[in-house]
Amino acid sequence: MSHKKRAISTEQIHHPYQPPEGWSAHPVGVFKASTVLFKDTADLRQPRPRDGLSYRYGLHGTPTSYTLGARLATLEGAEHCLLTPSGLSAVTLVNLALLQPGDEVLLPDNVYGQNRWMAVDYLPRLGITHRFYDPLNAEALPLSEKTKLVWLEAAGSITLEFPDLLGLLGRCKAAGVLTALDNTWGAGIAFNAFEIAPGMGVDISVQALTKYQSGGADVLMGAVYTRDLALRNQLDNCHEHLGYGLGQNDVELVLRSLPTMELRYRAQDLTTRALAAWMQSRPEIAQVLHPALPGSPGHQHWLETSSAGAACLFSVVFKPQYTQKQVDAFIDALELFGIGYSWAGPMSLAVPYNMSQSRSLTMPIAAGPLVRFAIGLEAQADLRADLEQALESALG
Ligand SMILES: *Cc1c(COP(=O)(O)O)cnc(C)c1O
Repeated sequence: MSHKKRAISTEQIHHPYQPPEGWSAHPVGVFKASTVLFKDTADLRQPRPRDGLSYRYGLHGTPTSYTLGARLATLEGAEHCLLTPSGLSAVTLVNLALLQPGDEVLLPDNVYGQNRWMAVDYLPRLGITHRFYDPLNAEALPLSEKTKLVWLEAAGSITLEFPDLLGLLGRCKAAGVLTALDNTWGAGIAFNAFEIAPGMGVDISVQALTKYQSGGADVLMGAVYTRDLALRNQLDNCHEHLGYGLGQNDVELVLRSLPTMELRYRAQDLTTRALAAWMQSRPEIAQVLHPALPGSPGHQHWLETSSAGAACLFSVVFKPQYTQKQVDAFIDALELFGIGYSWAGPMSLAVPYNMSQSRSLTMPIAAGPLVRFAIGLEAQADLRADLEQALESALG
């Protein structure tokens, strides 16, 4: 190594040092590459499926991302996991991989906003129609001969109605229609998406790993899970055409967060339930939306399918006598809650929403300004004191 025969940069690139055999530690090494080197041209010509074992090109996976995919599949109760650059790109992958011109996709009326806007703004260009359905009324699910895919989301975005998962799945299975669940909220902890009841599970689940799996509010990533190999291959094919890639440093951050995920999920869940119940006792509030609260829309369905967890989100509807301006002043008066999107990070967040622009059907919630809270890892007593001071200073 001391005999420098080649120029410095050549020597650095072709340096013979190898990490010693026998190196072993819990953290996964960060393997980064665009080029994956082959032994010789015969090796290059070997077929290399994207199976989590073979390597062809950095875009398709390295030992680091394959390890994350394998661990996440275990957590989700799935067989296969495809990683995507964001939660939204995971949703997009499912739509683009499975839908064709002439197909119809059904979405719950409380579906994640960007999934709604893709169906409204983009899918029609591909000749794909959509309809929205009431997630609390499985009987009314508007299945037709054109229906190819039914999206589910538990709990629904912003208003957190917990859907009649078993009723909806029963209807889709009877009609032979594919189901895809946005399972960001359940995170593989609140219930098992692939086995919600014996023999009754979804075909596909997706998650924004941006939320709990990252846990740090510093990574954007997503995942698409399947048990069925043919379905996985169909999704994988589209994944490859779309050129979805990941930074392996981001993959490492998620791997680093996974061992603490269940502890964080449960801690945030407990604080959230306590604060939601406390908000319900406040005179300013017309309705608290949280699936574990009796009286919240879909509570009974949550009890049937998901009583192992309830995540870190709740929303409140203020009594109609309060103006949006007053409610904005309440949010601005909060000291510990950040104002911004996303959730499941260390910092609690509050965001005002106007539901009238993002629903097609009637909603089972009170009229009035709505605020969604995402509870972080701060102490419950501090968060409660902050909510109290803000309510009193802005609305008192
Ligand atoms: C955040 C979120 C997404 C999108 O995830 P990004 O990583 O922000 O693209 C999708 N679905 C749900 C339910 C989410 O909360």
